[in-house]
Amino acid sequence: MISTEEFREYAHQMVDWMADYYKDIESYPVKSRVHPGDIISHLPLSAPEEPESIDAIFADFKKLILPGMAHWQSPGWMAYFPANSSYPSVLAEMLTSTLGAQCMLWETSPAAAELEERMMDWLKQAMGLPEHFTGVIQDTASTATLCALISAREMRSCFTINQHGFDPQNKYRIYCSAEAHSSVDKAVRIAGFGHNNLVKIPVDETLAMIPGKLDDAVREDIYRGFTPLAVIATLGTTGTMAIDPLKTIASITQLHNLWLHVDAAFAGSATILPEWRRIIEGLEYADSYVFNPHKWLFTNFDLSAYYVKERDILIRTFSILPEYLKTKVDQQVKNYRDWGIPLGRRFRALKLWFVLRNFGLEGIREIFRQQIRNIRDLAEKMESDPSLEILAPVNLNMICFRFNPGNIREKDLNDLNDRILRQVNAGGKIFLTHTKINGKYTIRLIAGQTSTKKRHLDQAWELLKQAAKSEMKHD
Ligand SMILES: *Cc1c(COP(=O)(O)O)cnc(C)c1O
Repeated sequence: MISTEEFREYAHQMVDWMADYYKDIESYPVKSRVHPGDIISHLPLSAPEEPESIDAIFADFKKLILPGMAHWQSPGWMAYFPANSSYPSVLAEMLTSTLGAQCMLWETSPAAAELEERMMDWLKQAMGLPEHFTGVIQDTASTATLCALISAREMRSCFTINQHGFDPQNKYRIYCSAEAHSSVDKAVRIAGFGHNNLVKIPVDETLAMIPGKLDDAVREDIYRGFTPLAVIATLGTTGTMAIDPLKTIASITQLHNLWLHVDAAFAGSATILPEWRRIIEGLEYADSYVFNPHKWLFTNFDLSAYYVKERDILIRTFSILPEYLKTKVDQQVKNYRDWGIPLGRRFRALKLWFVLRNFGLEGIREIFRQQIRNIRDLAEKMESDPSLEILAPVNLNMICFRFNPGNIREKDLNDLNDRILRQVNAGGKIFLTHTKINGKYTIRLIAGQTSTKKRHLDQAWELLKQAAKSEMKHD
């Protein structure tokens, strides 16, 4: 291993590399061009017996690893949902990894526990969440949704399933829209409900859940002897950014006494803007809520903000106290290992603290508003282009569209748009992904990376038009 002085030297060298990387990021192809197996075939089959120099390892990082990376921080990243990072976040992560603390208990790092508590309160205020919510950082929204379903299960069974397992008499049912994220399916499986007990509620023309159909499904299940347990409402679906009507859904969960979990993984950050608070109307009735600062709040992966109405239910569901973890201060402090699944916890609150202070809430709002405006401008250009169709309501900073010159059969349109997307992505300047809406191949474009500016959207629009022109010529 290297010495402290060598560490200092290499650390400086790498910081220079990091700054250059961000400065030159637009020169990297956003989507990696390697083929399956290209990277692994260059990696030795076994670890070295003898030490190797950092110089050699770093050289291989640049030569072997970097070409196999997708450059998520590129302003040309318009695929999936973004995974934001930012300078203050990276700086904090350097400190976090230097401290190398495992923050499972208050006692294993009091500052980590207390900073986490305060950061979750800052976010609660900044996002306009209900005052009675209590927050805790989770690694991902998938984990948070799993915690929500397990908590619902325990509360409903008076905490007996943790102890005795499921009572076969009781067939619990979970409800979400047909557009909900796959993490809901996964959580239903892992929590032991059985995938057949996840009921997918149909969506309307905006791809949001139809609350009347939810009510019908719950009543039908009660009639058939099932036990309706929980509803997952989605704010900002992954396919098209559809927003389920939370207030109406909440009135149904109140009526039938169901757990309401709200998955706002991406769109939750938008409620920092007062003009977007309307999407969380009704949230005061929710039992649990999750959104991801690691998607859209300039905080690098991973950091998911999970809020619950009653923290005692969460803690009673997840706490296990073996002798070796007992401390003298357990009654006075928050031991976050009891607030989720893993025992060990990274010090994630630090990067959020750096981000919120260095951007300031107003700084974040300004960037969000700019991104939303840029997408609206692009949508206007698209609307005035007769060879293009916008296929879903434009919400926040995402557009779903396809090229349709009008003289191509419906079944060939999917193929045309797939070719356009592949051509654009192969250019390396931008990276977009697709979804399907009612069988129609749909290109998704999202402008949510930290450094995505108007000129990147102008460039994307030009590249898309060029690709469409050349692909339509082939037809
Ligand atoms: C991205 C996403 C998730 C999963 O987020 P992770 O933090 O990666 O688990 C869940 N729900 C929705 C709506 C998402 O967009």
